[in-house]
Amino acid sequence: MHPYDPCWCGSNIKWKWCHKDREKRPPVKIGRLLSELRDQYSQGYCSHPDAGAETCSQKIIRAHTIQRSGGLAGITEAGHVMSVKAGVQAIFDNEGRIDPILDGVRGASTFNGFCNFHDTTLFRPVEIGGSTLSAESVFLLTFRAIAYELYTKRAAVRAVPIQQQMDYGASFLKQAIVQQHLHYNAVGMKRGLIDLESIKKRYDSAYRSNDRSEFSVYAVEFSEVLPVVACGAFYPEVDFSGNQLQKLGRGSAEFEQIAFNLTILNGVTVAAFGWLGSKNGPPAAFVESFKELPDLEKSAAVIQLAFEQLENTYMRPSWWLGLPEEWRNFAVSKIKAGTSLVEEREVDALAKRPYPFSVVGVRSEFG
Ligand SMILES: [Zn+2]
Ligand SMILES: [Zn+2]
Repeated sequence: MHPYDPCWCGSNIKWKWCHKDREKRPPVKIGRLLSELRDQYSQGYCSHPDAGAETCSQKIIRAHTIQRSGGLAGITEAGHVMSVKAGVQAIFDNEGRIDPILDGVRGASTFNGFCNFHDTTLFRPVEIGGSTLSAESVFLLTFRAIAYELYTKRAAVRAVPIQQQMDYGASFLKQAIVQQHLHYNAVGMKRGLIDLESIKKRYDSAYRSNDRSEFSVYAVEFSEVLPVVACGAFYPEVDFSGNQLQKLGRGSAEFEQIAFNLTILNGVTVAAFGWLGSKNGPPAAFVESFKELPDLEKSAAVIQLAFEQLENTYMRPSWWLGLPEEWRNFAVSKIKAGTSLVEEREVDALAKRPYPFSVVGVRSEFG
C-alpha cells in the first residue's frame, strides 16, 4: 500500500499513521482501553424532549432505567441484584465468557441520560408507589427505554475507534480478523444509530404535542412479582411462534423497533410493550404472537425475551444462583445471542422455550 492511501481497515486514516507496522508496535494496555471505553459510556446529557439550557437543571444524574423503589427493589437482596449488563461489560476480563455478576442496586440499570430535574418530574407517574398500568405510564416507560438505547448506541459508535486499537502488536492475519469484525459491527451500529435518532425525535414530538395516536401499547400484569426486570428496545426479528418478522441488514427501509419493559408496578410484575408507527408492522405482529401464548407460558416467555434481546436485564440473586446449571447455561447462550457474538438470530429463538423459568399466571391485560 502507498503510505498516504487511506488505510485498508476503513478508519479513514492514512495507512502510514494507522496499520502500517502495527504488528511491530507494543499492544495497548487493556486497562487503558477499558477506561477509555467506560469514559464514552458515561458522557452525560439530558434526554428530556424539552432539554436545553433554560429548562434543565445543571446536574446530569445516573438515572435509573428501571425505577429503583418499585422495579429493582422487588428483586434486590442485601442491596444487590444479578446484572446481565455488568456481566456483558466484564467480557474482556472474562476472556469472552459472559456471566451475569452481582451489582449494587444503586448503580444498577443507570445511565447518565437525564438531568436531575427532568428525571424526577418526567417519570414521577411511574416512580411513585401505587402507580398503575395505563397508556400514559407505558408511554413513559417506553420513552425512557428509547432514550436509554439511543444513549447506549451513541456511546457504542464513539467507542469503535477505541476498540480498533486492540490489534497493536498482533499478526497481520489477526489484525485483519479483528478489523473486519469491528467494521461489520460498526456498520450495523451506525445504521441502528440513525434509526434510533429518528425514533427518539418522533417520541419527543409525541410527548410535546401530547398526541399519542401513533403510539401502540400492549401489557400484561402478572399475578405476582417475577425474579427478573429489564428495560430496552429492539428490532423484533422473530416472534414467539417461530416466524421471521424482519431480517436486519436487508434493504434500506427503516426497521421498526419495539420497547419492552419488565418491571414492577403497584406490587406485581408488568410486561409492557410500546411502539410508535404502523399498527400492523413487525412490532404489532410480534405482540400478536405473544398474546396467543397460553397465559401460564407468558411469564417464562418474557424472561427468555429479556435474556434474548436486552442487555439491561437484572435478576434476583438467589433465584439465578438457584437455577439448575443447564438452565443457567441456556440463559447465557440467549444473552450471547443478544450481543453481536452470535451471527444470526435463530428463527425459533423465542419459540423454543425448553425451560420454564417461571409459571406465574396473568392477572390482567391492557391495550
Ligand atoms: Zn488501519
Ligand atoms: Zn433536563
